[in-house]
Amino acid sequence: MDKKLSLDTICVQGGWKPGKGEPRVLPIYQSTTFKYDTSEQMARLFDLEDSGYFYTRLQNPTCDAVASKIAALEGGVACMLLSSGQAANLYAIINICEEGSHFVCSSTIYGGTYNLFGVTLKKFGVDVTFVDPDLSEEELGKAFRPNTKALFGEVLSNPGVAVLDIEKFARVAHSHGVPLIVDNTFATPINCRPIEWGADIVTHSTTKYMDGHATCVGGAIVDSGNFDWDKYADKFPGLTTPDESYHGIVYTKAFGKQAYITKATAQLMRDLGSSSSPHNAFLLNLGLETLHLRVPRHCENALKVAEWLEANDKVAWVKYPGLKSSPYYELAKKYMPGGTCGVIAFGLKGTREEAIRFMDNLKFICIVTHVADARTCVLHPASHTHRQLTEEQLVEAGVAPDLIRLSVGIENVDDIINDIEQALK
Ligand SMILES: *Cc1c(COP(=O)(O)O)cnc(C)c1O
Repeated sequence: MDKKLSLDTICVQGGWKPGKGEPRVLPIYQSTTFKYDTSEQMARLFDLEDSGYFYTRLQNPTCDAVASKIAALEGGVACMLLSSGQAANLYAIINICEEGSHFVCSSTIYGGTYNLFGVTLKKFGVDVTFVDPDLSEEELGKAFRPNTKALFGEVLSNPGVAVLDIEKFARVAHSHGVPLIVDNTFATPINCRPIEWGADIVTHSTTKYMDGHATCVGGAIVDSGNFDWDKYADKFPGLTTPDESYHGIVYTKAFGKQAYITKATAQLMRDLGSSSSPHNAFLLNLGLETLHLRVPRHCENALKVAEWLEANDKVAWVKYPGLKSSPYYELAKKYMPGGTCGVIAFGLKGTREEAIRFMDNLKFICIVTHVADARTCVLHPASHTHRQLTEEQLVEAGVAPDLIRLSVGIENVDDIINDIEQALK
């Protein structure tokens, strides 16, 4: 039913569907556990023979309502909420990669994801090759190996705001028999629905625009249901052969298009437990109810600020894919015709110390480790979020040492520009 409604309506109405006499507003099922009448009923749940709630680490009605809203927004068949965006990207990969597997990943990604994939997953025996996402299909193809299980990229990269050519990435992934996984945190489904361009799995740090008010860290994974795991059964034995930890269930046989998310819930969430709390899911839902109103305002404000910065002679460079001068302008128009995001990357003429002084002199625009919430904020990635990266890795990740990440909020744009102007002075 949700599929026929516009995104605006899904933001407000999706997910929670109360029955007669039930709360109009999504209730917080603040309960770890759920009651059954017979031992048999409970046993069937544990065998995945019936669906139902039994323990909030695995599923909770509040979390599920919000997950189904996000699935509808992205046009996917299933979604799971997680405790953070980090957990979402971790699960998205390890649901199909194990020791000895390899995957290919765009190098222009969020610093936390870069570390997760390049350092921590390597310790678990999952290898990654980072590639320049702007390479040709042929060049990208060279990074693939017989044990490659996925291709990963960010629709809009954090913090360099590069636009991913999703169709190109999808073609490369599919020609190698692997799914394309994209992190759609910055664009949000309001501006881009990657599944429509060929992405198979979409991840989110819901911490950013989806929550939008900087109240809860959270993540989500949405499955399009489009990738044919059985066609490449040898590559994905976890989905296509019996799971001994679930009495020999074969996920693709038992769950069809729900196989990927069911496996991620039944195995990974069961064993690793990075679940969302029902209370956080409730707050995330409040954010989602206004996502379609906030995102356009972020974009409108950011474009005005980016144009103002570009025209200012104290500013050395500005990266914003909505600017005509951006090398990603055409890709942005194609994939995000309604706008990109509120995040701008720019550098000032002068020294790194002067850049830091500029940030310190801002008044209501604060220095915070966050992006993509209602309040305008700044960060210096090389000193903050990306500080673990070497100079070389910074360049590879598209993070110049002088890059200032400005996350434009939904305040009055003239006030935002005035604050920047006085700090530049
Ligand atoms: C913030 C962010 C993450 C990590 O999400 P958390 O919710 O902070 O764990 C992953 N990807 C992108 C693009 C992000 O901006």
